[in-house]
Amino acid sequence: MIIMRFEKEKPLSKLTTLGIGGKASFFVEVKKEEDLKVALREASDKKMDWYVLGSGSNIVASDKGFEGLIIKIGIKDFKKNGRRVYVGAGNNLLDFIKKINGLGLAGMEKMAGIPGTIAGAIYGNAGAYGTEIRENITRVKIFDGEKFRWIKNSECRFGYRTSGFKKNKDWIIVGAEFSFGKRKPAELVKISRDTIKLREKKYKPGLLCPGSFFKNIIVKNLKPAVRKELFPKIDRAKIMYGKLPAGYLLEEVGAKGMSSGKIKVAEHHGNLFYNAGGGTAHDIKKLAVMMKDRVLKKFGINLEEEVQYLG
Ligand SMILES: Cc1cc2nc3c(=O)[nH]c(=O)nc-3n(C[C@H](O)[C@H](O)[C@H](O)COP(=O)(O)OP(=O)(O)OC[C@H]3O[C@@H](n4cnc5c(N)ncnc54)[C@H](O)[C@@H]3O)c2cc1C
Repeated sequence: MIIMRFEKEKPLSKLTTLGIGGKASFFVEVKKEEDLKVALREASDKKMDWYVLGSGSNIVASDKGFEGLIIKIGIKDFKKNGRRVYVGAGNNLLDFIKKINGLGLAGMEKMAGIPGTIAGAIYGNAGAYGTEIRENITRVKIFDGEKFRWIKNSECRFGYRTSGFKKNKDWIIVGAEFSFGKRKPAELVKISRDTIKLREKKYKPGLLCPGSFFKNIIVKNLKPAVRKELFPKIDRAKIMYGKLPAGYLLEEVGAKGMSSGKIKVAEHHGNLFYNAGGGTAHDIKKLAVMMKDRVLKKFGINLEEEVQYLG
C-alpha cells in the first residue's frame, strides 16, 4: 500500500536555498516511481497545478507562494553495472559524485559542490569548470504524463544551462543512466576536494542564494552587430570557455554591493545575489530588472536569468 503525506501550506522559503517565497497550498515528497502517479492523480482530481522541485537551489519563489501541489522528487535508486550507473532523480548531486569517485568512475568530479539533485542538474544541464552533466549521460528516464519512458541523450537537447525539459514542462525526470571513464579513486577525490575549496571562495557555506543569477554569454552566438558594439567596451581576456561572464558585465555597471531591500549583490561577485535575511522575491526581481537594464544600455546585451521563477 502506498502511504504518502500531503502537507498543507508549506513555506517555499524552507524548500529553496534563497530562503524566500510564500506558501504552497500542498506539498508531497515522492520516493518511488509509482508514488509519482498517485501525486499527479491527486493534483488532477483536485484540479490543481503542480510543480516539480529538487533541492530548490536554482529557484526564486514568489512572495505569493504557489497555488497548487509542489512535488519533490526523492527517488534515490542507485545501480552500478560496470562503468554504467543508473541513479534516481532525487539523489543529491554531491553525494552521487562522492560515491562514483570512490568507485573510480571519472567524469563528474569537477562538478562537486554544485548543490541540488540529479534531476535539477539535468534540467538545467548544470556544470562548472568546463564540465557539464550532459557529457556523462547516456539516457534519462521520465514520466511523460502517461507512462515512464527513456529519452536518449541526443533527444534531451542539452545546451548551455538548458535542456529540452525546459520546453516539455510535463516531463518529469525520475532517473538517469550515466557512463563514466576510469581513474584512481584517490585522484578523483582530490579533484573534487580542491574544486569544493575553490567554490567556497565564491559561495560561503550557508549563504542564502540561488547560485549565479544570470547566465554567462556565449560569444559565438552573439549577432555580428552586437559583437561590434560590445567588443571595444570589454576586456576580451575575461572570455573563458567561449563565454563572457555575466558577473564581469554586471560589475562594469556597478552591481557589486548594490541592494534592494534585504537582497544584496555580493561585494566580491556581481552575479551573486543573496538574501541577507528577510529578502523578498519582489526585491530580487526589482534588482534583476535594474541590472539587466544597465547592462543592456551599456553593452547592448540582454542578460538571461539562470534562475527559475516559481509561482
Ligand atoms: C551556492 C550555489 C552554487 C551553485 N553553483 C552552480 C554551478 O556551479 N553550476 C550550475 O550549473 N548551477 C549552480 N547552482 C544552481 C543549482 O545548484 C543548479 O541549477 C542545480 O542543478 C539545481 O538542482 P535542484 O535539485 O536544486 O533543482 P531545483 O532548484 O529544485 O529546480 C530547478 C529546476 O529544475 C526543475 N526540476 C527539478 N526536478 C525535476 C524533475 N524531477 N523533473 C523535471 N524538472 C525538474 C524544477 O522544476 C526547476 O525548474 C548553484 C546554486 C547554489 C545555491
